[in-house]
Amino acid sequence: MKKNLNAHIDHDEISAKMISTNQWGTFFGVSQEVLDSVWKNLTDAAGNSVTYISMEIGADRDVYHPIKNMLQELDLDDSTNKILNHYSKLFLYGPEKIPNYSGGLGILAGDSLKSFADLKIPVTAISLLYRKGYFSQLVDSRIGQIVTVTEWSPETTPSLYLLKDPDNHNLPLEIQVPFFDENDKQIMARAQLWLKMEVSNNLDFFVPEILLDYSIPASPACIRDVGQHLYDSSSERTKILQRRLLGAGIIPTMEALGITSKTIHLNEQHGVVVVLQLISRWLEKKLGHDYRNKATDNDITAAAEEVAKNIIFTIHTPVKAGHDRFDKQIFGQIGHTFCQRILHILASDSEHPDFYNFTNLALRVNRTTNSVSRLHKLVTQKQFPQYAEKITAITNGVHHLTWISQAKAEVYNSFFELKNWQDRPDVFANAGLLFNNKKFRTYLEEAWHSDTKSLTDYINNMLVEHRKQMHETWIDPPNYLSHLDTGDRNLNPDVFTIGFARRFSTYKRADLIFEDIDILADIIVSKNFPVNFVFAGKAHPSDDPGQSLIKLILDIQEDLYRKSNGLAKVVFIPGYDMKIAKMMVSGVHAWLNNPKRPLEASGTSGMKAALNGIPNISTMDGWWVEGYHDGLTGWKFGYESGIDENSFSEAPSALLYAEDSASFYRVFVKILEMFYTPELHPRYIDKCIMNLKLNSPIFNSHRMAAEYCKRYQLKLPPQVNKKLKNLRKIYNSDL
Ligand SMILES: *Cc1c(COP(=O)(O)O)cnc(C)c1O
Repeated sequence: MKKNLNAHIDHDEISAKMISTNQWGTFFGVSQEVLDSVWKNLTDAAGNSVTYISMEIGADRDVYHPIKNMLQELDLDDSTNKILNHYSKLFLYGPEKIPNYSGGLGILAGDSLKSFADLKIPVTAISLLYRKGYFSQLVDSRIGQIVTVTEWSPETTPSLYLLKDPDNHNLPLEIQVPFFDENDKQIMARAQLWLKMEVSNNLDFFVPEILLDYSIPASPACIRDVGQHLYDSSSERTKILQRRLLGAGIIPTMEALGITSKTIHLNEQHGVVVVLQLISRWLEKKLGHDYRNKATDNDITAAAEEVAKNIIFTIHTPVKAGHDRFDKQIFGQIGHTFCQRILHILASDSEHPDFYNFTNLALRVNRTTNSVSRLHKLVTQKQFPQYAEKITAITNGVHHLTWISQAKAEVYNSFFELKNWQDRPDVFANAGLLFNNKKFRTYLEEAWHSDTKSLTDYINNMLVEHRKQMHETWIDPPNYLSHLDTGDRNLNPDVFTIGFARRFSTYKRADLIFEDIDILADIIVSKNFPVNFVFAGKAHPSDDPGQSLIKLILDIQEDLYRKSNGLAKVVFIPGYDMKIAKMMVSGVHAWLNNPKRPLEASGTSGMKAALNGIPNISTMDGWWVEGYHDGLTGWKFGYESGIDENSFSEAPSALLYAEDSASFYRVFVKILEMFYTPELHPRYIDKCIMNLKLNSPIFNSHRMAAEYCKRYQLKLPPQVNKKLKNLRKIYNSDL
């Protein structure tokens, strides 16, 4: 459709094709036909669709925006069609950030939904809308991370629609979610519903994302406030309330919209409260409205078994301590006593008798539990031997259309061997055919250089901006280079640039490679190999050790700069988000990941690098165990032996800083030599092409979605099934 539309076509005709309406409002980007057929599928009596539940969803428009792309191609400038003019201005120039994510989990959710849309899988997603986002990060060299509120307004964000009450379009559609006090006295929380459309790349399908917004006057004040910040952990009560706002909002939302999905997919256990409602409903159907008094413990267990048949659970956390556990007494202040009875039976925690364990609940009530990599499957089975049989693996993937840079996309477009990569990321396997193709190698390196230059330009501008701010605000620039008065204070794109960016938490060991600055400086100085180290990432505001890691990165900058005679430049980019991530994973020369094995369940940023033909340097954890391919695609270092109870410790002594950093330094010298020595440099490019060839066909979210579809057991049209089968042919995570 994209290609057929051009500037000569009648604007009224375009407008007719792009605008659609139903009882909840008017939407831009898909035709009436698409809206109607998607909705028909989601509301059919057979329940042949999936409702996907996630605490966070990351899908900023500034990294992927099929509707905006289409509008740019059309070049509508001031259309005479008023409606078209309105929407095209909004989509082209409106706000692009939807700060409803904190990191990998949310971006995985967004990437999954985009692939479901591209593959035409009937899915509805439900999450919360956070009016103050997660948080915005400022960084000051003396203080470290400074947490501020994210300002955004869903009202002005294109592709977000406040759903209307079908009976009165002047009012928003509202759902009601009951909460109970200690005496089972009920109060009603209310939410309005926002629709975000995750539109397919061809605009011929979409996945509706419903975001519950409890911050409305009709909700009690105590509810209004707790739903504003993602992962607000200011109190135990707030945490529990947030989980309940999500979990207990699911069925009312589905009912309000007529969504019939039988299958519910829990992306991590945050929304698991939904199973309490499903169990109650099942009991009510069986025992009548007095089910709360009539139900025996056996009835409850039997109901749980029935409900479990329709639940798919993806577990992401490898450490037991990271699982959701809530004080029984506090839960007693918000949930009905009958819910507490169910929890008592299904969510007890023998190690913590005063707590309900929501992970235990999710593990118990599902048809399959998916871990997110092969290693993570072993880890999960080890931690929960009683569920070992139903624990399977579907290794994560990323949405290739979101993460491949424009420059790389143009390279891929120029070679018929990679034809159709947009539609079928498995064709990247053909990159092997281009291995000795000089033109491909040259184009790839040129595109790469232009991506590196975009990154270093961004950083150099940022350093200047920060230098200015020094005089204008109280923030002390985070980077040493901003403080240099003279000399070489810029990053040069020809210099080997290594990137590290993700959430800052203890097990990810952001400072690992700075464990021994003297050795690191010596490597760099002795061979005269300059290096740019580019870091970014946020630490949760209540994670003090995580926040100190950020400060540590700032603190070594000057020391390493001096010890390396200015050859090593460390830069921290504040405000990590999807845009910065995309710039980094496509612009650096190598992507670093060094979690303490086996604490990284999967990790996904390295997959984004692979799609851009950038090699990885990583410890043998998460997806890299599957992606390493004996060194063809990059480098490994660090501990890689067996897993026992001690492996799960995050105590400083268990984090293996000395061992793993020493191992890194040994590998790092070789990498620099390969990059900088002209005779060896082609071997470096070999790894880039092999990372593209061996890993991109696998670690993308189309393949992941195809594997999930097998678990969902949906009835899908033959052409959809065929496509999914093809994507699965190449890989089976669950070995
Ligand atoms: C991909 C991504 C992540 C996840 O990175 P990991 O290395 O998997 O931890 C986090 N934040 C952003 C903004 C990302 O784009």
